[in-house]
Amino acid sequence: MKIISVVGTKDTGKTVLVTKIIEKLVKRGFEVGTIKHVGHELDVEGKDTWKHKEAGASMVVGTNHETFFHLKDGLQLDHILELTKYLKKLDYIIIEGFKTSHYAKISVTDFEDSYTLKKVDPFNINDDKLESLVDMIEERAYGMFSQMNCRDCGFKGCDDLAQSIIRGETKEDECHMKREKNVELKVGGIEIPMNPFVQKFVKNTVVGMLKALKTSQIETTDKTIELMIKNDDNR
Ligand code: SF4
Repeated sequence: MKIISVVGTKDTGKTVLVTKIIEKLVKRGFEVGTIKHVGHELDVEGKDTWKHKEAGASMVVGTNHETFFHLKDGLQLDHILELTKYLKKLDYIIIEGFKTSHYAKISVTDFEDSYTLKKVDPFNINDDKLESLVDMIEERAYGMFSQMNCRDCGFKGCDDLAQSIIRGETKEDECHMKREKNVELKVGGIEIPMNPFVQKFVKNTVVGMLKALKTSQIETTDKTIELMIKNDDNR
């Protein structure tokens, strides 16, 4: 899943551009999701979800034609992105806002940082320019990095690799964790990078254990294995 962020100040056409990018990506056959920072717009006084929150609920999930999560203390962007993986398999997530994030950005104002792919005027972009912008997104947007900064890619850390992708000098699969990710290990919610050899070792061990449990008799086409260990007494 690749992530792109459209940034700019209020009323500068962020939503206009986000909509145009969504339409192009969907036309190209991609599944697209969006995340928007909505400030207080969901806190509509008197509504049932507002009452739930006022009563002290830490998380309120509203669902109808739209679904939203409302968390008492808010959530870090990376946590929200992690959650989306469980909700739907997406090719792209477009974020509106979150200007300080370290994902590939399109700026609709003068704002620019080391993660900015391009500055765009959303109200004056013709179809050809929009097509090339979406080509650039396909080529240079990237997904989440582990932030383990293991330097296996030859860069000083994950952010350095990300900035090199933005400049068009490197590809995302320079990160060994992105290349061969058959096994995912998290400790306390934090992803632990594993090289291909360790991944293979863990996979063979777990698959071998499952053979003894005769799990092949379970009728499912989903080949994913999930293992969660509650390790309260020993780390
Ligand atoms: S190899 Fe991946 S995890 Fe390690 S520093 Fe590079 S980008 Fe980060």
